[in-house]
Amino acid sequence: MDDKYKKLKEEVENCYWEIKYYNEKLEKLRKSCNHPETELVNYSPRVGQVFENTEVCSICGEVINIPIGVMK
Ligand SMILES: [Zn+2]
Repeated sequence: MDDKYKKLKEEVENCYWEIKYYNEKLEKLRKSCNHPETELVNYSPRVGQVFENTEVCSICGEVINIPIGVMK
């Protein structure tokens, strides 16, 4: 493996660690929130999938409730 790809591979691995770090941080922050304010939004958990009128916390973004009948 030449230096260019060695460096690229290292940066990709660092990205995975940062994603993991921020996912854990987000989870911790959301656990400390009592979700005092919520709003209805179009929630898109992945490309091509949208749940309308999903209740999310206005403070931390936690999904509170996806209306029954729209889950696919
Ligand atoms: Zn919240």
